Amino acid sequence: MAIIQRNQAHWLKGPAVTRQDLRATARGPYRLVLLGAPGVGKGTQAELMNERLGVCHLSTGDVFRAAKDLSAAELTPALQEALDYMRRGELVPDSTVLALVRERMRCLRCPGGFLLDGFPRTVPQAEALTELLRSERLQLDAVLDYEMPIEQIVARLSGRRTCPNCRAVFHVTTRPPKVAEVCDNCGSPLAIREDDRPASIRVRMAAYEKSTAPLSEYYRKLGLLVQVSAEGAPEEIYQRTVQALEERP
Ligand code: AMP
Repeated sequence: MAIIQRNQAHWLKGPAVTRQDLRATARGPYRLVLLGAPGVGKGTQAELMNERLGVCHLSTGDVFRAAKDLSAAELTPALQEALDYMRRGELVPDSTVLALVRERMRCLRCPGGFLLDGFPRTVPQAEALTELLRSERLQLDAVLDYEMPIEQIVARLSGRRTCPNCRAVFHVTTRPPKVAEVCDNCGSPLAIREDDRPASIRVRMAAYEKSTAPLSEYYRKLGLLVQVSAEGAPEEIYQRTVQALEERP
């Protein structure tokens, strides 16, 4: 199993990944994008792939959430504006998101590969990513599109609990912490993400349908789209993911 130094705390200033060991896989290192509506479990799969395959995990949503802990003096105007969009459940403007990804180029260059979670979210972001990778002479291996019926997504989101300290993710029924409402990793009290509240969930679903669903089409045309059912337990979905990746033509 991979031993990866957890880099979440450093996201705000850019990742500091040390890749010490990689699990042998038939293929890889993988350079992947994860797609799927909020709540399909992309974050959990990303965490599993980060631990087991050694890929660097970059979640733009987690970077924005971490920015909430900065003092007003530390926040740049662009980041402050981004947080206002996020609190309303709306998408942050492409230019801000792209600036943030450019600051984290080291993650894209990780020798263990990378996993982009929550980015790209729009076709212009995907086009910009294609250019960014081309300039680094890197290529995506696949775009994993996690699929799940909408009623199940809403149930997942409303039961999700996250650790404000180490960012671990739990769920009241499918992935409960050992002690209710307490993080297994660091013992902090768990919280409901501001954007997992019902009013924000509705806006996020609408934003996903409008801006993100066309991304599947963009990547299908490039021959990169790999559809994966997101139903079942995290381990089942993980095995399905690895199998889908290794069976690609
Ligand atoms: P997530 O955790 O990926 O669902 O992201 C949470 C929130 O962060 C989203 O609802 C957006 O407000 C913002 N966000 C994260 N990534 C992006 C992105 N690539 N483009 C625009 N907004 C984003």
